[in-house]
Amino acid sequence: MVSTAIVDVPGVPSPDGLDALVRVLEMIRRGEARTRPELMQASGLGRAVVSQRVDQLKVLGLIREGSLARSTGGRAPRTLEFRADAGLLLVAELGATGVSAGLADLSGALTRSLEKPLNIADGPETCLAVVESLFDELLDTAPAGVSVWGIGVGIPGPVEFATGHPIAPPIMPGWDSYPVRERLSARFNVPTWVDNEVNLMALGELRAGLARGVPNVVYVKIGTGIGAGIVSGGRLHRGAQGCAGDIGHVEIAEGESVVCRCGNTGCLEALAGGGALSREGEAAARDGRSPQLATVLRRNGVIGAADVADAARRGDPVSFDLLARAGRLVGEVLATLVNFFNPSLVLLGGGVTASGDLLLASVREHVYRRSLPLATRDLKITRSPLGRRAGMTGAAHMVTDELFGLSTLPLWVNSGTPNGKPELAGAASAYVAAS
Ligand SMILES: [Zn+2]
Repeated sequence: MVSTAIVDVPGVPSPDGLDALVRVLEMIRRGEARTRPELMQASGLGRAVVSQRVDQLKVLGLIREGSLARSTGGRAPRTLEFRADAGLLLVAELGATGVSAGLADLSGALTRSLEKPLNIADGPETCLAVVESLFDELLDTAPAGVSVWGIGVGIPGPVEFATGHPIAPPIMPGWDSYPVRERLSARFNVPTWVDNEVNLMALGELRAGLARGVPNVVYVKIGTGIGAGIVSGGRLHRGAQGCAGDIGHVEIAEGESVVCRCGNTGCLEALAGGGALSREGEAAARDGRSPQLATVLRRNGVIGAADVADAARRGDPVSFDLLARAGRLVGEVLATLVNFFNPSLVLLGGGVTASGDLLLASVREHVYRRSLPLATRDLKITRSPLGRRAGMTGAAHMVTDELFGLSTLPLWVNSGTPNGKPELAGAASAYVAAS
């Protein structure tokens, strides 16, 4: 079904050749091969096939010849470059309390970003209006003559990936089934993909961070909420409906009296997330247990998770205990995941993780203590190196995975750009299969 348009055009492949075309493009895009000989070696395709596909990609305007590579004996081969500057991507990551929006090139590299506070509970009309105004601001500074090829958005709740609709997100009143994709696609006239923000953070690390080339990874975000993204066999594992890794609402036995934002009691994020640290820190400031936090409360009128981390670093024993407890609770849940899934890398991201080493140390200690020796023998647990950029980077890669994937590429490539084709996002999903 995908290939009727593409075979009509001279110089582009038959349906049988499409698979090789997408593979060759992917290797050049991801920097896995830079010359024709490298492409042959990495793909296992023959010289003639590689040569034809490269020529076709040049005709389609997706790659260009670069400089001469170093010769390994004989004539030096030309390098091949993906035309990352042929189009632009708009990306946004909505968190519970703020939004980041950015402009990326087609390699997924962010060229500019903006941040703004917002409250996700204000609903989709208000929050997406903020996203749209940030996108407008970013486009004002975009290079002239380069069009937007796609939009990628992460939101802090479960998303049905096929439709781009949030489904009963626990902390997002008014967002259930809201047509996020349709709204942004119509406004900017480009295809739009939406996913859970933690999935995108994991994807960002997989494509451009520490998880590159690592087949089995768990990414845990500890911010206002807690969630995990799973990379299995080198691919983002979204699960049947798209909510794999949603560990924030796992029940913790000792927390039965604590009510979560989702309405249940004893959820992990209600006990160990940023909101919990802030709530417990404020209580300690008010009842005199922590003079340090009391000073912060007098000055700022509020205690944030970062204040607790800061006080812990300065030796406040109450804050130290709060972080150690949060780390223990996350670590115990994570130990179950580690035993169950056996990753070789666990990355911790999110605002609370960024605030110091204490939480990381506590998470590590409890994962190692509660996991099987074999599961932790080569396990590395560390902080996400992309940090706040992970979600936006992942959003950009989600869009390029789709645009240049087997299901979607043939639907637009002959017209030179996916701009003006918002319907592409609903047409097919290569994401699960090809990411
Ligand atoms: Zn909950």
